[in-house]
Amino acid sequence: MSYTADYEPLRGRLERGRVVLLDGAIGTEILRRDVTWADHQLKKRPDVVRAIHADYIAAGADVISTNTFQLTRRSFLNHFKDLAHMRHIGTPDLETRWAELLRAGVKLAQEARAQTAGGRPVAIAGAMTTLEWCFRPDLAPPADQARAEYREVIEVFADAGCDLLLIETVNSVGEAVAAAEAARQVGIPFWIAFVCDERGRLFTGETLADAARALAPLEPDALLLNCAPPPDVTAGLRELLPHWRGAAGIYPHVGRYDPPEWLFTDEYPPERYAEVGRAWVDLGARVVGGCCGTTPEHIARLGGALATAR
Ligand SMILES: [Zn+2]
Repeated sequence: MSYTADYEPLRGRLERGRVVLLDGAIGTEILRRDVTWADHQLKKRPDVVRAIHADYIAAGADVISTNTFQLTRRSFLNHFKDLAHMRHIGTPDLETRWAELLRAGVKLAQEARAQTAGGRPVAIAGAMTTLEWCFRPDLAPPADQARAEYREVIEVFADAGCDLLLIETVNSVGEAVAAAEAARQVGIPFWIAFVCDERGRLFTGETLADAARALAPLEPDALLLNCAPPPDVTAGLRELLPHWRGAAGIYPHVGRYDPPEWLFTDEYPPERYAEVGRAWVDLGARVVGGCCGTTPEHIARLGGALATAR
């Protein structure tokens, strides 16, 4: 495994038990800025996406994640009966659009880093989730097929220059293992983030001990919990820590899912979020950030509260 100049020092910090700050939400932040979500806005409003990345860097994030959630060949094909149907009634570029959008997403993060980081190491994490809808692990394809499809995505991320992968919102051990094996094949460092319920279990009923045991041989640089309310991911962190020797972390969401958009709530304003974040670090979290509904202000306050731990 080779490490880039931006990621190596952050990885070193994790190894020394220091805290690394991840960014907050991108998708919901686009909506909060009153822009719609078509094509992830990678093509029509690249300025908005780039500005959000820049705001997270300015807020102190050590790792920013690309705006590429669920961009895969399968996610486009799923709108059609089959490939022939897609070719017949779809627009001509659908077979390659996912890869083009992935590259565009990485490029915007790179541009924001070049403009804003000022020489501080900021790593770019290629953000990817499960192949089917993330909260439906029952729909996951068989392992061999999953590994091949993950690999296709990961090769594009690696080729585009990502420093690491953030395999996130994962709901089953099998999906995590398939994605991790694909990342190992490509040779890019990776973090894996699981969703858990209020008891700290995966939606399949598997435990984080199961996940840690299955993933240890594949050597992820961090195991995280994301996209669930703060008390749920905290429960997950408590479940994970006794079974995981590597870096662990947490980046919950704030608000409620209101498909296909997000309902923002004021349960965790930035100041309160930062206080809760300090408790996560006291528990043992070493990567902290935010998922849906969090903003650059949340990350700035969180980073401020953890200044001495970083
Ligand atoms: Zn989320």
